[in-house]
Amino acid sequence: MRQSKIKSETRSIATKSKSLRLSLTEGSRELLAVQKGSEPRYSLLVKGGRVIDPSQGISDELDVAISGSRVARLAKNIPESSAELVLDARGKIVTPGLIDLHVHVYDSATPLGIPPDPNCIAKGVTTAVDAGTSGAHTFPGLRRFIINVASTRIYALLNISTIGMTPNSFDNQWGELLDLRHANPRLAIQTIEKNRDVILGIKIRLGKNLSGEHDLQALKLAREAADAVQLPIMVHIGGTTSPLPKILAMLKKGDIVTHCYRASSEGILNEKGRVLPAAFKAGERGVHFDVGHGQGSFAFEVAEKAMAQGLLPGTISSDLHHYNVYGPVFDLATTLSKFLLLGMTLEQVIERATTNAARALTFPLGLGTLKEGAEADVAVFELREGNFDFVDTVKQKRRGQLKLVPAATVKSGAIYGGPTDPSQW
Ligand SMILES: [Zn+2]
Repeated sequence: MRQSKIKSETRSIATKSKSLRLSLTEGSRELLAVQKGSEPRYSLLVKGGRVIDPSQGISDELDVAISGSRVARLAKNIPESSAELVLDARGKIVTPGLIDLHVHVYDSATPLGIPPDPNCIAKGVTTAVDAGTSGAHTFPGLRRFIINVASTRIYALLNISTIGMTPNSFDNQWGELLDLRHANPRLAIQTIEKNRDVILGIKIRLGKNLSGEHDLQALKLAREAADAVQLPIMVHIGGTTSPLPKILAMLKKGDIVTHCYRASSEGILNEKGRVLPAAFKAGERGVHFDVGHGQGSFAFEVAEKAMAQGLLPGTISSDLHHYNVYGPVFDLATTLSKFLLLGMTLEQVIERATTNAARALTFPLGLGTLKEGAEADVAVFELREGNFDFVDTVKQKRRGQLKLVPAATVKSGAIYGGPTDPSQW
């Protein structure tokens, strides 16, 4: 009782006089803080980088101050003494944590699945969307063994096929919808209703080896499920039995076409290299075009022609999986670098993996931004200059002068692999 009275008196003196001499009692830290004029107010300061945050139109040298799991402040010259931990980002690019809208991270349960953390959060991607690796029968495993335990924040698009992508590997090309009986809207709806916190849409893969002759019937079933739960469909296009305009005609505002620059039959270009009028029309009514690079779905030539005619990607995603993680995709940053050489600015490229990706699906958290109060997801990159050869999925090469290389990732205020990362305790 008496002790606390003494302490409170000391405190009141301390606040009145900055010249108070320090004493090594319990209250010394507060007294020291008063003498210095500041107690660390932030848990982390990302210091001195060039911040690119398209959600606020920012591209400038700024510090990012974080309190707990939230962005507290974005300003120039925030003193290092105001933070418990400082991440030196001088000479580097600082962005909101990237969102990769198309990955396959159902590790060990599907041939395409890769472990999320070494390939996503370790590479600047704080949020990844598993695009249809699981269906109604296999989603519980994705949730229990991957989503619940990964450091990467993972959401899912549920495959309309109950078996998800279990059958499909390099040595077994036959996909999940060759037997249309696997497409089950009722089970998809049931699974989504139980898992709305992590399932953000429906995924369907169309193509001769995936959905055979009945691609439109399969898409109709996906449409039925998506409309019932009021979520978008992501459609994998290319190499279909049905012409692409018929597929696009079934898509609505908010639906996503992935593999938009794929070099294959029934891609977005006609035989003369012109963008199909149906693709422009789909874009006008709010269908969203996503890159989904993948192992067979991104050709420089298609991208160059389509972009020259005005069909730009809404989002840039990697479609990272087992058969492309050691090339030609490697990671999302490499895919973004390919769009730098295609003529987009750094700001435009970052926008497509942050702001635009955050808008493409209804994420429960406000992601893809460094606005004050937002979830403190931050990615730090080196922007290397030199001559870099990049390869697409038809083995065409292009040389670029810039390459984004991941340097550090902060998720919800903790540096991944760093001293405040809860998974390291
Ligand atoms: Zn994919």
